[in-house]
Amino acid sequence: MAKTKKPKCGLCGKTENLTKTDCCNEWICDDEDQYVVFSYARNSCHRNHRRLTLCAFHHDNDHDGDWSECEECKTEFDVEDYVNYGTNEYNFRKLSNPPAYEPTRCHMCNAIINRMADGYTVSKDGFCCRNCYAPPC
Ligand SMILES: [Zn+2]
Ligand SMILES: [Zn+2]
Ligand SMILES: [Zn+2]
Ligand SMILES: [Zn+2]
Repeated sequence: MAKTKKPKCGLCGKTENLTKTDCCNEWICDDEDQYVVFSYARNSCHRNHRRLTLCAFHHDNDHDGDWSECEECKTEFDVEDYVNYGTNEYNFRKLSNPPAYEPTRCHMCNAIINRMADGYTVSKDGFCCRNCYAPPC
């Protein structure tokens, strides 16, 4: 006899207060209402999946077929953003063959900037890493 699997959030594993995603019909925390506007907190599974994945973008824009094979999605983003959105931790399923890209580099010191995680600014000269710009006090 097959055990009924208790549904749990595919991102964080919680088993309470779940809903299904519109885009991929996966269990996820129904936690958008806990999000504090302008806090920039990334603690909502539902919001992260909706805003930071190709899966949700593809669905919201009524593309056809599977997001991981969608040519339209590829043209909508920089390659780096495309790869980030397709492989970050807010995905239930990640791109199996993410395209290669030239990493973003600071135009001052040439350090590689991870656009998802690092602070940076963009000026007319290009990207500038956190070490090279003075953060506002
Ligand atoms: Zn969750
Ligand atoms: Zn999805
Ligand atoms: Zn698409
Ligand atoms: Zn720099």
